[in-house]
Amino acid sequence: MPEFTGDPKRHDKTSLNPLKGSCLCGSINVTINDTELFTKRRGHLCHCANCRKVAGSYVAANLVIEEEKVKIEDHNGTLKEYKDYETGSGNPVGRFFCSTCGNPVKSVVGAYKGKVILKMGMFPVIPTPEAESFADHKHEWQGKHEGMAQYKIKLFADKHADSPV
Ligand SMILES: [Zn+2]
Ligand SMILES: [Zn+2]
Repeated sequence: MPEFTGDPKRHDKTSLNPLKGSCLCGSINVTINDTELFTKRRGHLCHCANCRKVAGSYVAANLVIEEEKVKIEDHNGTLKEYKDYETGSGNPVGRFFCSTCGNPVKSVVGAYKGKVILKMGMFPVIPTPEAESFADHKHEWQGKHEGMAQYKIKLFADKHADSPV
């Protein structure tokens, strides 16, 4: 019997700093060093068509975070980049994934200087998201997430607005 580790409630939050995740095959490890991952809402759910494809799901759980807080170990050299030009802004998004198991790892966009967008499905516990982007594109059956800011299309209404992630 495999060990089932998918229940976030079984993980003691005090043991999640740093927060460590891996891709499905274990070739890629990602470590986040940030003491506030579980003390306040972090990250966002994105309903854009591209995030849905990458996630293979109705929504993607993303975290925009400073590059220096993230360590990515690519043990077998399987991290590959797909340059995605089919974005709302036309600005390319670098979508990184494990080329062995297909697990999405991170996205890199020009508008987020010094930051990466981590694909949070890799981690044993996903911090409570603060917002939903492309909220207008939600499926009707999805239900509501209480306490999450809703951004109609883009995540931020300010200078970051040119890149759906
Ligand atoms: Zn992998
Ligand atoms: Zn998106």
